[in-house]
Amino acid sequence: MVSYGWLTDRQRSFFAGGATKELSYRLDALRRLKAGILEHESQLVNALKADLNKSEFEAYMTEIGIVLAEIGFTLKHLRAWAKPRKVRTPITHLGARGYIYSEPYGSALILAPWNYPFQLAAAPLIGAIAAGNCAVLKPSELTPRTSETIAEIIRASFQEDYISVVQGGIDTSEALLAEKFDYIFFTGSVPVGKLVMAAAARHLAPVTLELGGKSPCIVHEDAQLKLAARRIAWGKFMNAGQTCVAPDYIYVHASVKDRFLSELGGAVKELYGERPLLNPEYTRIVGRKHFERLAAFLDNGTRVFGGGADPGELMIEPTVLTDIDWEAPVMKEEIFGPLLPVLEYGDLSEAIREIQNQPKPLALYLFTESQRVQENVRESISFGGGCINDTVYHITSPYLPFGGVGSSGMGAYHGQAGFDTFSHRKSVLKQTTRFDLPFRYPGRKNGLKLI
Ligand code: NAD
Repeated sequence: MVSYGWLTDRQRSFFAGGATKELSYRLDALRRLKAGILEHESQLVNALKADLNKSEFEAYMTEIGIVLAEIGFTLKHLRAWAKPRKVRTPITHLGARGYIYSEPYGSALILAPWNYPFQLAAAPLIGAIAAGNCAVLKPSELTPRTSETIAEIIRASFQEDYISVVQGGIDTSEALLAEKFDYIFFTGSVPVGKLVMAAAARHLAPVTLELGGKSPCIVHEDAQLKLAARRIAWGKFMNAGQTCVAPDYIYVHASVKDRFLSELGGAVKELYGERPLLNPEYTRIVGRKHFERLAAFLDNGTRVFGGGADPGELMIEPTVLTDIDWEAPVMKEEIFGPLLPVLEYGDLSEAIREIQNQPKPLALYLFTESQRVQENVRESISFGGGCINDTVYHITSPYLPFGGVGSSGMGAYHGQAGFDTFSHRKSVLKQTTRFDLPFRYPGRKNGLKLI
């Protein structure tokens, strides 16, 4: 196995030089990253098109635009986030002052997936840089053009002992994980997340795991069905459903199911036209293996619409399935593609119970006008994050930390959460030397002792 010890050694010695601890250095690094991205903008758009048939619109909205916004937000707030924080002290600490200092860990390893190959590599990097770390980034091998463009951006912007990109597949990930990093940030599947955490344990490296799972979407009887259908169609079928926070399945109240399905059909036509497979804006499935896996689900239950597939182009139509229960193969794993099973419920408690029986999802979406139902669902089900009356949009607010819980992951990032994730909070008590409180010493009388 190739060893990357030389790289971690170089990053360690660069970090020890202290340059990255300067706020001005980090701000400058973020500006360089932004400039590098802007210089390679059209190359990125072309790479995303080549790797995933991502449209220019989606490339900006879900990848480049999000990353540039995250850099802008971080540049604006970094000075405030990085300030030491003075905290209160209890009466037993009379004369002392408490401070929390955010300090970088050292060298961070970032492992990224293929579905938003640019955003999910660059957004954690922003947090790592902001907090003052060095970083090694390994983008996905399944999107080679985008990964190569990321490598070019990083090479053009940074020296290797500060930020560097290593390209490759599983062997490369394993070789990197064998090295001692000070932090590991992984985005990907649950099984690989477990391997990453086990590898991190060997060095006691702290981890953030941004994983996946089946994210439910509940459409209650009082939901605004047309709006719900449009927002669900948008969140589900963008990137052909290859989105970690896409609604994986719908639970709809039986009394509105037919109307909802008809609105959903209308919304998909509005977004992708009558023949989505011919729509140049519609994303393809990343590879043959994923295509075959998804195609095998197409005959689960009853097809309401969609179902068409083009094996040559690796494309699958937005497809809605009904007459599905938890025994159907499509309900046994995260779908991660443009298939949407719709289950129904009569009483909300049935849907809640079923969802509670599943691993904790990364996201949950609920469409209802009722405050009571909103609170009931939010309090009864544990999930990473989500939306009421929308899908996916929560992850685009820099004020909301984004991350999973339970098997959908641990830790969070975006906005200040990204800075915090890559920072160790060092607590320091500054004690007075003007007097010494004797009560903590054995055999002394309580009382103030002047020195
Ligand atoms: P993946 O787990 O297969 O791969 C992710 C990264 O890990 C890649 O860089 C890959 O090279 C590496 N890797 C793969 N197998 C490995 C192994 N055995 N040992 C070490 N490294 C290995 O995930 P993927 O297929 O690229 O992405 C899809 C999954 O990621 C879905 O489950 C999705 O829900 C999840 N995801 C989560 C988020 C999030 O933010 N929570 C975002 C996107 C995707």
